[in-house]
Amino acid sequence: MSVNSKQNVKCPSCGELSEVTVWNAVTVKDSPDLKADLLAGKINIFRCGSCGYTALMPTHLLYHDEDKKLLISFTPCEDRLRRKIYDDVVATSKESGALEKFEGYNLRFVTEYNELLEKILIFDADLNDKAIEVIKLMILSQDLEKADVRVCRFGKLENDALEFMIHDRKENQVYTSAVPKDSYDTVYRQLRESGVKPYSFGWEAVDSSYATRLLNGFNN
Ligand SMILES: [Zn+2]
Repeated sequence: MSVNSKQNVKCPSCGELSEVTVWNAVTVKDSPDLKADLLAGKINIFRCGSCGYTALMPTHLLYHDEDKKLLISFTPCEDRLRRKIYDDVVATSKESGALEKFEGYNLRFVTEYNELLEKILIFDADLNDKAIEVIKLMILSQDLEKADVRVCRFGKLENDALEFMIHDRKENQVYTSAVPKDSYDTVYRQLRESGVKPYSFGWEAVDSSYATRLLNGFNN
């Protein structure tokens, strides 16, 4: 069930008070429109009606797609808090036993809005994000000197090719990179053969550090 609440927010820029609808849970099955709004970047975004100031609300959101067997826990936070919040989410789920009914699911922990949207797009395209993260590392390693200032995100699957967007923060440019679907299939098959499971046993943060660990021989 999708869940929301109303919050009064004081604009950090001009001080004007606005009422914002904040979503804590989005369930695709009963709210397809909400999912569309989420993908359009309209959910949990504060927009000041007076001065136009825009910011992401610091709200925890649970995204649930029953058909894709996908559950995403999204908590916006600074990088330095990521590990602590991950541990909190794991501990809370363990205590409540809430994950028992999500057997066979992929459970993902994310802390960036773009990361949340990327996960949704990946699973909507019937792809697996573990293979995608490995491919992203391969793409970024083509220009190792610039890898630190670049962020690579999956965009879409079209005409048997996966399109990735590479944002170079230093140059402030966006490049695209296409990877044949066959290459993805090969990477995914190799991961599966090495023991990587297509579902989760608990919350997983599947990001570049995860992919690095996979390439170093760790599986799951
Ligand atoms: Zn304002």
